[in-house]
Amino acid sequence: MINNSIVNDFLEGIVDEDDLKNVKAIIEALIEGIETDEAIHEKTGIKLNTVRKLLYKLHDASIATYKRNKDPETQWFTYTWKFDKEEYVEKITDFYTNRLNERQEALDNLENNLYFVCCMDQEHFKGDYTESSEYEFYCPVCDYELEPYDAKKEKTLLKRRITLDKKNFKKFEDAINKQ
Ligand SMILES: [Zn+2]
Repeated sequence: MINNSIVNDFLEGIVDEDDLKNVKAIIEALIEGIETDEAIHEKTGIKLNTVRKLLYKLHDASIATYKRNKDPETQWFTYTWKFDKEEYVEKITDFYTNRLNERQEALDNLENNLYFVCCMDQEHFKGDYTESSEYEFYCPVCDYELEPYDAKKEKTLLKRRITLDKKNFKKFEDAINKQ
């Protein structure tokens, strides 16, 4: 339930790319029931500061919670951490569903509309018939003519991504159900 490209993409929205490996190791430690930053640091070998930083990022994303306790002897606060599996599954599911909907919508738009692009540089302009007619089919950037957009490549790419995401989400669900 950790090693999945959808999970990676979701976690990259929470932590920097450099921290992806670390945050996954921390989630694994939490799932094993390791509760304190010190113990996670010892188990994973990740710097204590990084462990703390990433735990709070997981907390901000609502997938980890902590309890603060006062040590009666030292009067120091200790924090015990817990992984919120239900919230994690829900967050990943939402992330997957939103992305799938966006891509499906983009694909539907390409299937159902004719788009026009600048004949010199597609970065200049891309718009549907109505938008393009507003510019009388001339590029608003360089004033060269607009031409019909060949959507074949983009459609193929979207279809491939949609298929892959569906497959990977199925794997994610299977891993969850196995636990
Ligand atoms: Zn142009």
